[in-house]
Amino acid sequence: MERDTPSSSPPASLSTVRVTGTEVHYYVLCPRKLWWFSHGIEQEHVGGSQGAENVAMGQMLHQDSYPGKPRKEVMIDDLLRIDFLDDGVVHEIKKSKGAQRATLYQLLYYLYYLKREKGFVTTGVIDYPKQRRRETVELTPQREAEIEAILASVASTRSESIPPVVDAPMPICKKCAYQDLCWG
Ligand code: SF4
Repeated sequence: MERDTPSSSPPASLSTVRVTGTEVHYYVLCPRKLWWFSHGIEQEHVGGSQGAENVAMGQMLHQDSYPGKPRKEVMIDDLLRIDFLDDGVVHEIKKSKGAQRATLYQLLYYLYYLKREKGFVTTGVIDYPKQRRRETVELTPQREAEIEAILASVASTRSESIPPVVDAPMPICKKCAYQDLCWG
């Protein structure tokens, strides 16, 4: 089960808080996962083969999903890694429909960052190449407020000295590379 969007004050400045898209994704999935990740516990090195397999599959999909289409990852401010831009539209590629909500907020954060830091207002698309499906994403005022609340919560979660408590395993824990750390 993914987490509800929190409500709290926005961060003072995106450039000083420096939150990555991955951190937004992980926070929405599970704040404890964000904490492990932000404290240098890399998923490739824990939790057996599941995490490494997922990382490898994601890399393969990024390389092979659109073989006829010229595209490349775009780095913004040495912070955000956008899968690709097509006519100014921001694309995020996902291998499955899992974690849809986390993917949505990750992409909304990219749109929010581009608008606020670069004055570039655009839309986004989540690409599901295995399902041959695309979903258009718009940044509305309500979504902007949600992103600001998430960014504030990401910053406070990262600053905690111990990981947030999760009372019981969730369905997503079965696919999480940190499951041995949390529940082993
Ligand atoms: S195993 Fe579950 S509780 Fe632990 S970090 Fe992963 S999703 Fe969160």
